[in-house]
Amino acid sequence: MRVALVTGGSGGIGSAVCRELAEQGFALLIHYIGDPSPADQLVTELRAAGTVADTYMADVSQEAQVEAMFAEIMSDKGRIDVVVNNAGITRDGLVLRMKLEDWQKVLDVNLTGAFLVSRSAAKVMLKQRSGKIINVSSVVGIGGNAGQANYAASKAGLIGFTKSLAKELAARGVTCNAVAPGFIETAMTAVLPEEVRQTFLSRIPLGRPGLPEDVAKAIGFLASPKADYITGQVLRIDGGMSI
Ligand code: NAP
Repeated sequence: MRVALVTGGSGGIGSAVCRELAEQGFALLIHYIGDPSPADQLVTELRAAGTVADTYMADVSQEAQVEAMFAEIMSDKGRIDVVVNNAGITRDGLVLRMKLEDWQKVLDVNLTGAFLVSRSAAKVMLKQRSGKIINVSSVVGIGGNAGQANYAASKAGLIGFTKSLAKELAARGVTCNAVAPGFIETAMTAVLPEEVRQTFLSRIPLGRPGLPEDVAKAIGFLASPKADYITGQVLRIDGGMSI
């Protein structure tokens, strides 16, 4: 059985990714850090539909916690086929007023977290000579965004990380790609003021915000054998916002 780990797997985009990969027949490892109940509910839903699903808790920015999670995963499942580095946070503010701790926290979770999870996963995938790592970046990591310098830097860093890791792992058949979602309706964007939301919407040629399922379908493709010959790429899922 193919096994997929989704970090932040009970969040808006994460839970849609878990459902998409469950449809492809993956066993789901749903990672969370905060309240366990959304992850537990998702496990109940997926198991009711016949999917093998379990939860794993770790702060992805903490090396020891990530290594302990992978030790547990290997003892439970013995392999890992797909990793989706989806866990992410924002601590928005203009640079001149940004506290160092807000800069650091976003880099720690969004970028260092993806590094730690990918390093542990890559050790297993290289031995298996197969595997797919998919990093959730953002259009903000490509184009920047006033008020999100920390977040944009973390997401731009993820793109450089993705391309470098793709080069390091390719010889053993392991791929690494990134997706760059635009404006997606989740808890992360629900907090934006209405005028910011309208500004984003006015820039989307397809005329609607993205749904978590829009991102999940693209990740599902990159996780599938259909994407076996694709590595080091960044796929924008933004309704045409960056055309
Ligand atoms: P979300 O619902 O807030 O999900 C974020 C997830 O990250 C949560 O499940 C959270 O886990 C997890 N997380 C936060 N801090 C963590 C830590 N220290 N260790 C481990 N996990 C942690 O937001 P979302 O919109 O679905 O975002 C998912 C990803 O998409 C993020 O990387 C985000 O940057 C990216 N993205 C979103 C948009 C958008 O418009 N929404 C656009 C581009 C990119 P708990 O729930 O357990 O706290």
